[in-house]
Amino acid sequence: MPVSDRLLMGPGPGNPYPEVMTALGRPLMGHLDPEFIALLDETCDRLRQVFQTTNPLTFPVSGTGSAGMEATVLNLVGPGDTMVVGVNGVFGGRLCDVAERTGAEVIRVDAEWGQALDPELLLQAHPNPKVIAVVHAETSTGVRNDLEALGAGKGEALLLVDAVTSLGGIPTEFDAWGVDVAYSGTQKCLGTPPGLSPVTVSPRALERVVPKSPSWYFDFKAIAAYVTGGSARAYHHTAPISMIFALHAGLGVVLEEGLGAVVARHQTCGDLLKNGLTERGFTLFAQEGHRLPQLTSVVIPQDRLPAGQDEAAVRRTLLDRYDIEIGGGLGPVAGQVWRIGTMGHTARESNVLMLLGALDEILV
Ligand SMILES: *Cc1c(COP(=O)(O)O)cnc(C)c1O
Repeated sequence: MPVSDRLLMGPGPGNPYPEVMTALGRPLMGHLDPEFIALLDETCDRLRQVFQTTNPLTFPVSGTGSAGMEATVLNLVGPGDTMVVGVNGVFGGRLCDVAERTGAEVIRVDAEWGQALDPELLLQAHPNPKVIAVVHAETSTGVRNDLEALGAGKGEALLLVDAVTSLGGIPTEFDAWGVDVAYSGTQKCLGTPPGLSPVTVSPRALERVVPKSPSWYFDFKAIAAYVTGGSARAYHHTAPISMIFALHAGLGVVLEEGLGAVVARHQTCGDLLKNGLTERGFTLFAQEGHRLPQLTSVVIPQDRLPAGQDEAAVRRTLLDRYDIEIGGGLGPVAGQVWRIGTMGHTARESNVLMLLGALDEILV
C-alpha cells in the first residue's frame, strides 16, 4: 500500500488527528496578516493550557524538538556557566552535547538505561549550577524521570525540561512543579506533524538568559519581541504558516477532548499494552513505577522470533502486513528492546489490540 493511502486511514502509524490534516490543507496567509497573528496568539494560548503554565513567553520555535533543545540551551548557558544534566538515554546525551558546544561546564549525572534518574544525585551534583536539565519522558527507554523533587530542591538553579514526548501524554504541571523552561515537539503526543517545538520560558528564566546568545535565530530576546510584541510586532523570521495551522488544530483537538481525558487515554492504552505483553510472557524493559504509558519498551523475545528472521524482519512484517510501525532499540540497547509508541491520535485501544494480535500471529 502506498504511504499516501496509509495516511488516510485514521489512527494508523504516525497519523496526526484528522482535523490536523484539514488544517494543513488550508490556503496560506501572510505571516504578518492580522488574522494569522490572531491565530498564532491563540496557538500560544493553547500551548499555555497544555503546558499548564502562565508564562507569557510560550510559543512554537520554528524547528523540530531538537531545535527547542538547542534554542533553550543556547539562551540559558555559555562559558562560565554550569549545567547539570541527567542522562539515562539518547536525549539526555544530546542535551550534554548541545550544552558542551556553548562552552558551559557540563556535569553529567548518569543512570543506567531503563532506570529513572535519582533527583537527589542531580541536586547534589554541584552546589550552585545555573541550570539543572532533565528529560521528562526518555523516548529511547520508555522511562519517566520525575520533576517535582527537582523543582522543590533546585534553589537558585533554573530547571530545564525536555518535554518532547511528555507533553499531552502524561501530566505536565510545569508551573506547579517549578519548571522554569521546557521545550516539546509536535509529532509525539500532540498528534501533529513534526516541524515545530513548543517552548515555554518563565519570567525568572528570561531575566537570566545569557547576555548574547550565540544563535541569532533562536535569541529569546528577539523572539519575545515578536511573540509578545502585540501590535508593535515586527518581522523576525517567516513563521511556517501551515505548521502553525496544524499545531493550532491539534491543540484544539486535545483541549476539546480535555487534557485530562487525553492523558487518561494514553494511560489506558499503555496499561492495555503492558498487560498484554506481560500476559504473553514478555519482559518490560523500563523500571517499574517509572514506565511511560505512551512509550512501552519491551525486551525482544529472541527465542520466539520466526526461524531465520531477526528482530528487524519482524518489525518489517508488522509494517508491511499490518501497517504497524514499532521502534527498534537505540544506542546500547539496539537489537535488545522494542519501543512501542502509543501517542496522540494513535493512542487507541484498537491499535494496541491489533498489535498484540499481530505479534501472536508472527511470533512462534
Ligand atoms: C523526539 C525527541 C527529541 C527530538 O525531537 P526531534 O523532533 O526529533 O528533533 C528530543 N527529546 C526527546 C525526549 C524526544 O523524544
